[in-house]
Amino acid sequence: MRLIDALTSRLPEDCLQFDDDVVEAYSHDRAIFEGHGTASVLVMPRTTEQVVAAVEAAREADVPIVPRGAGTGLTGAANAVDGCMVLSLHRMDQILEIDETNRTCRVQPGVINSDLKAAVAERGLFYPPDPASFEMSSIGGNVATNAGGLCCVKYGVTRDYVMGLTVVMANGEVMRTGRKTIKSTTGFDLTGLFVGSEGALGIITEITLKLVTAPPPPATAVAYFPELEPAGSAIVEIFRQGHEPSLMEIVDQASLRQVEAVFPMDLDVDAACLLLMQTSGESAPERIAAISAICEEHGASFVYHVEDPHEGDMLIEVRRKVWPAFEHLGKALLPEDVAVPRQHLPELLAGITEIAERHQVQLPTIGHAGDGNMHPLLVFDGNDPEETARAKAAFEDIISLALRLDGTIAGEHGVGTLKKPYVERELDPVQLKVQRSMRTLLDPEGRLNPGKAL
Ligand SMILES: Cc1cc2nc3c(=O)[nH]c(=O)nc-3n(C[C@H](O)[C@H](O)[C@H](O)COP(=O)(O)OP(=O)(O)OC[C@H]3O[C@@H](n4cnc5c(N)ncnc54)[C@H](O)[C@@H]3O)c2cc1C
Repeated sequence: MRLIDALTSRLPEDCLQFDDDVVEAYSHDRAIFEGHGTASVLVMPRTTEQVVAAVEAAREADVPIVPRGAGTGLTGAANAVDGCMVLSLHRMDQILEIDETNRTCRVQPGVINSDLKAAVAERGLFYPPDPASFEMSSIGGNVATNAGGLCCVKYGVTRDYVMGLTVVMANGEVMRTGRKTIKSTTGFDLTGLFVGSEGALGIITEITLKLVTAPPPPATAVAYFPELEPAGSAIVEIFRQGHEPSLMEIVDQASLRQVEAVFPMDLDVDAACLLLMQTSGESAPERIAAISAICEEHGASFVYHVEDPHEGDMLIEVRRKVWPAFEHLGKALLPEDVAVPRQHLPELLAGITEIAERHQVQLPTIGHAGDGNMHPLLVFDGNDPEETARAKAAFEDIISLALRLDGTIAGEHGVGTLKKPYVERELDPVQLKVQRSMRTLLDPEGRLNPGKAL
């Protein structure tokens, strides 16, 4: 009752939803095994002031707040905890400004990534971060998870584009971080602190983003390899020679076979893997030819490159079809998200194969090869406890393998609850202490997204 009174006295009725079924639908993201609690209410503000009002109500009623974007996360980071207020930012979906002179834009957090891309493209500008979920995930969620994507290999991750934020703090104060200028040396980088903070440090209600000039259409190459190792060596050599692909994805044999079974497209299902590569900008055709030559020198069984962007798009389609092809099996899908320095990619790929054999699990692997960020996909019968236990054991072994190779447990999907048990294995103890102290400083009552991230 205290929470209902605190909310209804501050917010319009249409911002609040108490219906159990609706609240439940907004109480979890897309992580398959991460449990979620029962939320008390769903709050859907349209303005920063309404977010402040919601935070004040939560404080008055002493309930936790779980911020949420579009709920496409894969780690349980937006999952409700018992009694909480789910604060969904999806109605804050306005592009407030596109500044062509400074190549920036100002947006509310609920703007969907693909809508922003389309809006800035109309002005000849480009917003590069492109998680594969770009047609459904929100910019606020992308910032809060520091989302990556296919073109990070050249253009960087979400962090590289965030210039400033408006944040509602746990005590209801509103803080503006960052700058509108290209340069600034005033103060500590609090904008960076909030990027990837998974709703645990504050609620982001406005974002200023850097844009770049739209590049010309990319040139595309595909290369099949008879074994994984030479593909890994070709990737290392491409970067060693100074090429800057704008996309470099790998699709392994198991994935090729599943895509071919569900969406026949004449793929070479005997190849160990397929590399998909693009170059953009000046001399893209020459660069794709040079990259193709490196693949041939490293034993690719078939290499093909094109300048036509539509044909290029069709070639890249293989990568986009992998997840839907495995969904077709009706089994549980648990994607991993480890990343290693590029030179360790061959060892990571070999290690993943060994783990799959040892645990007798289906473990097709795709990933952002240019970033060393792999998404081995555990495919298993979630109703079979023995198979599920083997899949979980393989999941843990992949994490250990990535850490042994100087890698990270969470390349781009974030930590949430899924990766939280492993954070201490990656972060230096002093850093961990500093990070936890910062969280306590900003949110002494532990109100924001408790149990997530750290
Ligand atoms: C098919 C598919 C493909 C995917 N591909 C990729 C990929 O290529 N790269 C990648 O990085 N991720 C990928 N993801 C994961 C997911 O889409 C990203 O993590 C995305 O950034 C989440 O955005 P969201 O709006 O759905 O956020 P949510 O899932 O709703 O929330 C994610 C986190 O952000 C917090 N949050 C959300 N909005 C705010 C806010 N305004 N203020 C404070 N905290 C907030 C939440 O509390 C939570 O901790 C994929 C997911 C799917 C389902």
